[in-house]
Amino acid sequence: MDVSRRDASPSTDFIRAIIDEDLKTGKNKGRVATRFPPEPNGYLHIGHAKSVCLNFGIAAQYGGTCNLRMDDTDPSGEDLEYVESIIRDVRWLGFDWGDRLFYASDYFERLYQYAVQLIKIGQAYVCSLSADEIREYRGTLTQPGKESPYRTRSVAENLELFSRMRTGEFAEGAHVLRAKIDMASSNVTMRDPVLYRIKKEPHYRAGSQWCIYPMYDFAHCLSDSIEGITHSICTLEFENNRPLYDWILNELRVDCHPQQIEFARLNLSYTILSKRRLIELVARGRVQGWDDPRMPTIAGMRRRGYTPEAIRTFCDRIGVAKKDSIVDVALLEHCVREDLNERALRVLGVLHPLRVVIDNYPEDRVEEFDCPYHPQKSELGSRKVPFSRVLYIERDDFLEKPPKKFYRLTPGREVRLRYGYFIKCTEVRRDPRTGEVAEVHCTYDPETRSGFAPDGRKVEATIHWVSAAHSLPAEVRLYDRLFHVPNPLGEKEGDDFTEYLNPKSLEILNHSRVESSLAGAVPGNRYQFERLGYFCTDSSDSSGKALVFNRTVTLRDSWSKIVSQEKK
Ligand code: ATP
Ligand code: MG
Repeated sequence: MDVSRRDASPSTDFIRAIIDEDLKTGKNKGRVATRFPPEPNGYLHIGHAKSVCLNFGIAAQYGGTCNLRMDDTDPSGEDLEYVESIIRDVRWLGFDWGDRLFYASDYFERLYQYAVQLIKIGQAYVCSLSADEIREYRGTLTQPGKESPYRTRSVAENLELFSRMRTGEFAEGAHVLRAKIDMASSNVTMRDPVLYRIKKEPHYRAGSQWCIYPMYDFAHCLSDSIEGITHSICTLEFENNRPLYDWILNELRVDCHPQQIEFARLNLSYTILSKRRLIELVARGRVQGWDDPRMPTIAGMRRRGYTPEAIRTFCDRIGVAKKDSIVDVALLEHCVREDLNERALRVLGVLHPLRVVIDNYPEDRVEEFDCPYHPQKSELGSRKVPFSRVLYIERDDFLEKPPKKFYRLTPGREVRLRYGYFIKCTEVRRDPRTGEVAEVHCTYDPETRSGFAPDGRKVEATIHWVSAAHSLPAEVRLYDRLFHVPNPLGEKEGDDFTEYLNPKSLEILNHSRVESSLAGAVPGNRYQFERLGYFCTDSSDSSGKALVFNRTVTLRDSWSKIVSQEKK
């Protein structure tokens, strides 16, 4: 163990404190081995990212290892598509498991042998009660359970029945294998938990080799032990299962007995972090798929333009606690903004174009303005942006009858064009049919090319623009929060959580224009459209022929404003 390295990163949470103590006392011979064990029955979400960052982060900090393990012991719902997405997402988050990608399903034979061993030492039995009866016999939190009449089967009979369960002789539900612990235990989990059940379903990896499958509690601790894990970190809901984790490993006298440590799962406002619920959204077509940019999945966030760095920073900042809480999604958005502010190239785009004609600018003239890609980072370079007589500006930046505090373009007023001249509005033309403003006429002052007037006169606003003839059409997708209530699962009992989906979570703009430098923008590239927000080229739908941009996040948090207004 490299001590200097340990000192450089002092404990920052209770899990690291436990590991520090273990290293001090020489437990595990100074080894630190963690794992991230997702079940491949859905895509990873931001809650999983917290666990990924924690497990891989600890391994890196202590010079240990972190395995990626598919916890694939229940054939229902597991699929290779999910395995592949998990691998892609963990790698994208920036973590490396070397050659330690494991599958719990590869341990099926060993797990079966462990079960046989438990039977042999008289600590497991085949129970033939129905599922309902087992539930009934289990008792309640306040009442002890009742022993199964099958609890006293002989070892020989148990071995024979268990072997016949494996060969497929019995129907589903006919028998289960149970641990023989204590039906009166105050911990309901310890009342002879089921270890194996019959399930005549093929497994995406093991095929039809098995028709009995181990339960999570049996498979998980033994998989950890087989892999030599030292610290098995999981979420709080497994606290009651810890005595069972330890019981199984103790009874089987395994060489490696990892320590289970529970931490509070991440809950995030305005979304849901439950695979089961997310599957429902995908299956019911309420979103466009697992990588829909509104989804709290890693794949969705990647497509939306979030960076792995921002997600890792977020996971770092929320820390690790022992008590559940809901983290404000605004913190995640803040981390994304902060990171994109550093790295995103600044470009000009107009979401809702309004035509502006500069009457005193020569019709055939085109100037090229050299515009830096980043205001503070000259090393990011610059590009040429063409300027001509006809421009588009944002419809919002013009008002014919402005309210008091509107400083942008209005009849008779002068504003600055970003990187360019002052223009003054001289005339408004309307669409005779709709009455809507169709075109604004202006004059420009040739002396203001530097952005300042030689006579010292000031303007109150700088607005963005693109040249009508040179800009490119683009589709822009404005994404907003998936739900319009902070805690969609915590509303009234029994409600359908999809009722709280935000109907305005996606707005598609088909007539936006972007500066010509974005021709051929690479899918996944991230930009700041000046004054508008951060955007990223859509990785599925954008092409050289038809540009599509996703809004990653607005420049400022507009929600806290909306919420505070609603409270008034
Ligand atoms: P879900 O509750 O979303 O269905 P899960 O716990 O069933 O998730 P797994 O695939 O078993 O999903 O999770 C893999 C690992 O990620 C587990 O160790 C689990 O504890 C952890 N994890 C899952 N959700 C969260 C969360 N919201 N916050 C932190 N860790 C999580
Ligand atoms: Mg789970």
